[in-house]
Amino acid sequence: MTGFKTLDDLTAQTPAGAIVLIRADLNVPLDETGGVRDATRLERLLPSLQKLRQAGYRIGILSHFGRPKGHVVDAMSLAPVAKALSARMGQAVAFAPDCIGETAASALSALPEGGICVLENTRFHAGEEADDAAFSKALAGCAEAYVNDAFSAAHRAHASTHGITQHLPTYCGAAMQAELEALEAALGAPQRPLVAVVGGAKISTKLDLLGNLSAKVDVLVIGGGMANTFLAAQGHDVGKSLCETAMLDTAREIMAQAETRGCRILLPCDAAVAPEFAAGQTPEIVASDAVPSDQMILDAGPEAVIEICAAFDSAATLIWNGPLGAFEIAPFDRATNQTAQHAAQRTQAGTLISVAGGGDTVAALNHAGAGPNFTYVSTAGGAFLEWLEGKPLPGVTALQKN
Ligand code: AMP
Repeated sequence: MTGFKTLDDLTAQTPAGAIVLIRADLNVPLDETGGVRDATRLERLLPSLQKLRQAGYRIGILSHFGRPKGHVVDAMSLAPVAKALSARMGQAVAFAPDCIGETAASALSALPEGGICVLENTRFHAGEEADDAAFSKALAGCAEAYVNDAFSAAHRAHASTHGITQHLPTYCGAAMQAELEALEAALGAPQRPLVAVVGGAKISTKLDLLGNLSAKVDVLVIGGGMANTFLAAQGHDVGKSLCETAMLDTAREIMAQAETRGCRILLPCDAAVAPEFAAGQTPEIVASDAVPSDQMILDAGPEAVIEICAAFDSAATLIWNGPLGAFEIAPFDRATNQTAQHAAQRTQAGTLISVAGGGDTVAALNHAGAGPNFTYVSTAGGAFLEWLEGKPLPGVTALQKN
């Protein structure tokens, strides 16, 4: 991925003491006491902040938090997150109770070189989500440069991800750059064969994803609840399984389209079935064309795991979105665990580039103990999925215009 300026360009072009705004994703989950429950997003921001600090900039952090929809909502203030960031950076982090106007300007100009200030939730202003031109200009007002390090917010054309780039020299942050490079290696210019896993509950939420991937990958592994709909579309009785009967024709179209495009679709040849989705079940393993009518498919079976691992063995690159079964309740996590661990081993052996993300995928791969051994796991959710769907991301496009 090329066409954007990096932090190295920023430091070459901008003198110490300049006020630099960085768009981050500080939308982290908080507990009842205001403590951060999962600091992954803060951790990923640290490399950019350290680089800006070393260069001696006065750093303002822009972010949304929750969905206040243009109103000031005290429970959605970024003040507690500023505190958590201060602990992680090992330096005082100031907080300004507004992201524009005199409040923001005076807080930023009062910073020492290398100082950091979190500006209040951009979504307290209606102009943020409207990508309003006047609000974008106000955000840019007191700064000399803008860095976007929030890939997870890049699918939204908002003032702090998009409009602001009209008014300031714009650069790509370190985490954003790592994400774009991983995505480029996975789908932009991948080493082939390229295999994708698409799992999860429903086809209806992943139609664009299946369409785009079937045009680009060599093998498409379909698992989870959505595989049931494909099996039903092939004429198999899937018993009590989750199945979208309204999607049977769509499933057939996806399979026909994949065939004309030379993409092999791999459906689970066997399944772990049980009478209900509940803890304490002892599943029965059956062939996918022999599911008893009083049972439901809750995971891929052991033969399917062997076939999926073999597909990984013949791949150079793997893209993964969605679990292969109802992984939240053991033992229906087995196929996801075993195949994810296999992909992780091949990645560590240096024979596979593995990139995963979106929805429950991070939780499923971490549950398998495999996430840390993938080449790259995106925590971006919606932005990762939209990118996999082949949609342009306004926040990324705005970086590339520069
Ligand atoms: P998604 O958010 O679309 O990636 O879907 C993830 C959800 O799909 C998880 O909560 C899984 O429990 C669920 N899931 C996966 N396989 C099945 C299945 N065979 N039957 C019911 N739910 C499933």
